[in-house]
Amino acid sequence: MEDYPRTLEEFEARFADEEACRRYLFALRWPEGFRCPRCGGLQARPGSRGLLRCSQCDYQASVIAGTIFQDTRLPLTIWFRAIWRVTSQKNGTSALGLQRVLGLGSYRTAWTLLHKLRRAMVRPGRERLRGRVEIDETYVGGEEEGARGRQTRDKALVAIAAEEDGAGIGRIRMKRITQASKPQLHAFLEEAVEPSSIVHTDGWESYVGMESLGYRHEYDFVAGSGQTASALLPRVHRVASLLKRWLLGTHQGSVSREHLDYYLDEFTFRFNRRRSRHRGKLFYRLVEQAVSVGPAPYGEIVRRPRRGRPQHMG
Ligand SMILES: [Zn+2]
Repeated sequence: MEDYPRTLEEFEARFADEEACRRYLFALRWPEGFRCPRCGGLQARPGSRGLLRCSQCDYQASVIAGTIFQDTRLPLTIWFRAIWRVTSQKNGTSALGLQRVLGLGSYRTAWTLLHKLRRAMVRPGRERLRGRVEIDETYVGGEEEGARGRQTRDKALVAIAAEEDGAGIGRIRMKRITQASKPQLHAFLEEAVEPSSIVHTDGWESYVGMESLGYRHEYDFVAGSGQTASALLPRVHRVASLLKRWLLGTHQGSVSREHLDYYLDEFTFRFNRRRSRHRGKLFYRLVEQAVSVGPAPYGEIVRRPRRGRPQHMG
């Protein structure tokens, strides 16, 4: 049963205090009821400061321990408003925008909060794409289009996969890669696409050989076809241009290459749910994933950008 606010009014009435937010987190974290993290006991009584005490072993359990909310200095009401803002706005929000709207004391607080939320935008163990899938790479950042296979300083290379859904686009996956090499593109393919799917690419040599991984491969050479790359692979090109517009529009292009993966996660989260009838459903999903993903301390966010993320987080 998915329980979420439908409107801003409903949201504000429902999540007016810490206790209301905690109750919501509790229901999402322990949908079958309380379960003690230490002894597995199923009974708890309320303790101090919003904690729960296990009736069996007296362990003090917290609904936010082990989640992205762990060790936060911000009230949950602020977190919830941030999540509502991020999910109810079509394009999300920048750190500066969030700082202003929530009246946060510093830009860094808003920036960190958004990055913690992005950690929750990828569902662990999510399914791979299937059916017919287009794959291509694109450069993000910088002014001019770069030549393929050549590393440039200010641009990041992003691999994009997009399911065909009739003439339209189904779900997408994206990943930053350092070069359009066979090992990297094949690794992305295996992370993003279910074997036995039909994969449609251009004639770039790094895509050759994917049949040995269990895929069916269709490719078109742009040169000599009389068509542009975007006409041959219209879905990935559409996604690439939406991504670039979003990075420039919502984030003013101020995304460092080190953190780009997390922005790709946010874009993907939003894109794959673009047909949700209620924005509240995105709110629900994000809170749900926020209590199932581990904490990400500020130091880790700043110093240890993700590289070669493991498949189940990708
Ligand atoms: Zn216990």
